[in-house]
Amino acid sequence: NSSAEFNIKILIDNLIRLVSPSIQNEQIKLVLDNNIDRVLLGGQNKLLQAFINIINNSIDALKNKKDEKLLLISVKEDVNKKVVVEFKDNAGGIKEEIITKIFEPYFTTKHQSEGTGLGLYMTYSILNKIDAEIKVENSEFFHNEKKYKGVTFTITF
Ligand code: ADP
Ligand code: MG
Repeated sequence: NSSAEFNIKILIDNLIRLVSPSIQNEQIKLVLDNNIDRVLLGGQNKLLQAFINIINNSIDALKNKKDEKLLLISVKEDVNKKVVVEFKDNAGGIKEEIITKIFEPYFTTKHQSEGTGLGLYMTYSILNKIDAEIKVENSEFFHNEKKYKGVTFTITF
């Protein structure tokens, strides 16, 4: 129900509760910055699914990594007071040739037993319905003075 209201802080807390078993299973370090207490419009369950799809891809991408595995989730307010949720991993990123295709239905680089290519299409559709914007980019970032490389998904409400 997209006419419903949700608190972003509570939604992210619930999200972490749902994904933490698989994050711990893969020995991924989760870095969370969730301090924005704001009520927004949208259906909680749909949004949880939208975010779970993003995180599941990070978990998949981090699976084959030998060294430190990182997932950073942050919620901030931008200069226009919009709520911005960011998901970052250090799995190396997405090839530039395909990064424009990842929101298309059935686009996948995974074996058919591992991926349908519908996850990010679903995420995009859910966010689009409530006029939230999603952006993806490869990025380098620092964490504890070390440099990492991976993908960043930015959602603006
Ligand atoms: P699926 O996971 O079934 O392949 P998705 O729509 O969830 O479908 O993702 C599409 C594709 O985007 C993936 O197959 C993968 O190539 C790429 N992708 C998404 N997230 C990441 C990520 N965090 N790191 C690397 N590649 C990613
Ligand atoms: Mg997926």
